[in-house]
Amino acid sequence: MEDTMADGQPVADCLFCKIVAGDIPAAVVRQTEDTVAFKDINPQADIHDLVVPRAHYANAAELAANAPELSAALLVEAGEVAKAEGIADDGYRVVFNTGAHAGQTVFHVHAHVLGGDFLSTFGN
Ligand code: C5P
Repeated sequence: MEDTMADGQPVADCLFCKIVAGDIPAAVVRQTEDTVAFKDINPQADIHDLVVPRAHYANAAELAANAPELSAALLVEAGEVAKAEGIADDGYRVVFNTGAHAGQTVFHVHAHVLGGDFLSTFGN
């Protein structure tokens, strides 16, 4: 997968741009100037939130290549969401599915923050 140039502008048919704009409802957990965190509608763990930048980048690689400070802000916010959800101390997982083979279905970068129960570990 190649990194593409991107400027972060909203994309008209993007689901998460619509959630950021408030045009589609979501159960918002936290918001900052740069990010919105909300409950995943199909949770895969006791706690399963998504953290998205307000700016549109298709995936983690595109975000990192074009907006490294925003990449850092997204990771910091994933940690704040874990604290707000009470899972920071016991442990949690941050996942970026990147591309179709990884199961990415929404092409606006999002960190999955998963926890609240024992998560299966790779190889177990
Ligand atoms: O990494 P991936 O692109 O597969 O993740 C997309 C996630 O967005 C899914 O976990 C899905 O349940 C979630 N979703 C959501 N609200 C929507 C549409 C999808 O939380 N309206």
